[in-house]
Amino acid sequence: MAIITNRPKGTQDVVPNEAYKWQTVEKCAADTAECYGFKEIRFPTFENTALFKRSVGDTTDVVQKEMYGVTAKSPANGKDPDDFTLRPEGTAGAARAAIENGLLNEALPQKVYYIISCFRHEKPQAGRLREFHQFGAEMYGSKDASADAEVIAMAKALLERLGLDNVDLFINSIGCPTCRAEYHKALKAYFESKKADLCPTCLDRLDRNPMRILDCKSPICQGIAADAPVILDFLCEECDHHFEKLKKYLTAMDIQFNINPKIVRGLDYYTKTVFEFITNDIGAQGTVCGGGRYDGLIEQLGGNPTPALGFAMGLERLIMTMESKGAEFAPAKKCDLYIASMGEAAQNKAIVLAKQLRDEGYFVEFDTMNRGLKPQMKYANKIGATFTIVLGDNELETSAAKLKNMATGEQTDITLGDGFIDAFSNAVVSEMFDGVMENFGN
Ligand code: ATP
Ligand code: MG
Repeated sequence: MAIITNRPKGTQDVVPNEAYKWQTVEKCAADTAECYGFKEIRFPTFENTALFKRSVGDTTDVVQKEMYGVTAKSPANGKDPDDFTLRPEGTAGAARAAIENGLLNEALPQKVYYIISCFRHEKPQAGRLREFHQFGAEMYGSKDASADAEVIAMAKALLERLGLDNVDLFINSIGCPTCRAEYHKALKAYFESKKADLCPTCLDRLDRNPMRILDCKSPICQGIAADAPVILDFLCEECDHHFEKLKKYLTAMDIQFNINPKIVRGLDYYTKTVFEFITNDIGAQGTVCGGGRYDGLIEQLGGNPTPALGFAMGLERLIMTMESKGAEFAPAKKCDLYIASMGEAAQNKAIVLAKQLRDEGYFVEFDTMNRGLKPQMKYANKIGATFTIVLGDNELETSAAKLKNMATGEQTDITLGDGFIDAFSNAVVSEMFDGVMENFGN
């Protein structure tokens, strides 16, 4: 039975009592994105495998080791099954959707954001899952460094709005195909001399894409990579100028950054700017956000040449960081009123009153378990209802009841007739006012 009662390794459930954390982060991400002019885009959970091979790059760990293929059991018309893959990231799908839907023919820049699940077959550990979630943003059309600054500023703003002002920003430039050709030569020469110690995957990368060796997770390869030539020494004039401009803009916005010439990012499509936000608060998997510019990708995928850039933030790592910092999450909505009832007629009234208040937007509960009054009140307490009403024969007869404030124990008369909704609204407003005054007093 374990197979059906245990979730797959590397996945997570979010139980209702924890969902408010996700809702806080997702709402804040959407609000922040919208302030920066980004609009939501949605695209499929799976795409043609070729899309990821082409964009993420077939010498990357993601493509070589981590992708989940999807095949239908019975392909239509006896044809070969489609070769689909669950998305390991969002940039490729968003770019595909932007091209396919003609977004890049509209007024530029186009700015999109998404909140998605991603799938990578990795070794599960804290902050590293097989199904994880990203908030991503992509900007198409601008080649200017001000766009890089804008995208970084947005990621930073989101972190700050969530109460995380100590996540460190690291930036680098990995140049364009022109300067990278020179750099590749230097890297290759360096790694050739260390060939005997490289892992088999990196030996293959040596010929095909030596920069990927810099991103290898093997400690031996990492040790070798530590002394490798750095790309910043090879930047062409244009890339160098772009990087200088970015630094100037970040400084002007008072966004602190560190330059780390070792950042190459795990995906092949990046050009020029790359960046990461890293926290020390959640252990080894501290990269909360990664991103950069990918000026060649859109053309590579068949679109008109369009400069582009973006980032993705790992939501599990973000929430873990918030938890470790004691950052505040927006509290879950609280039950405004619990209507307890005794007897069928009273329960009938409870259903009607609850419907009326819910139509006005209040959060109302009543008994659907046929419990006695005492357990009903216990339940009201447990769910933290602000007010309760008890309905019995007497209340139905007089069309009036006692509205009890659960925090203070104070009871006030309330009509169950025409003025009910207004009377309840007034009670809620005055409760809120008392709350504000109390905070003020403190
Ligand atoms: P890492 O170096 O940690 O493997 P990455 O370079 O593979 O990260 P990206 O592909 O840039 O990561 O993804 C962007 C963000 O998504 C990461 O910074 C991280 O916060 C998150 N992320 C990536 N892989 C995972 C995973 N397996 N589990 C949880 N979060 C992840
Ligand atoms: Mg990775």
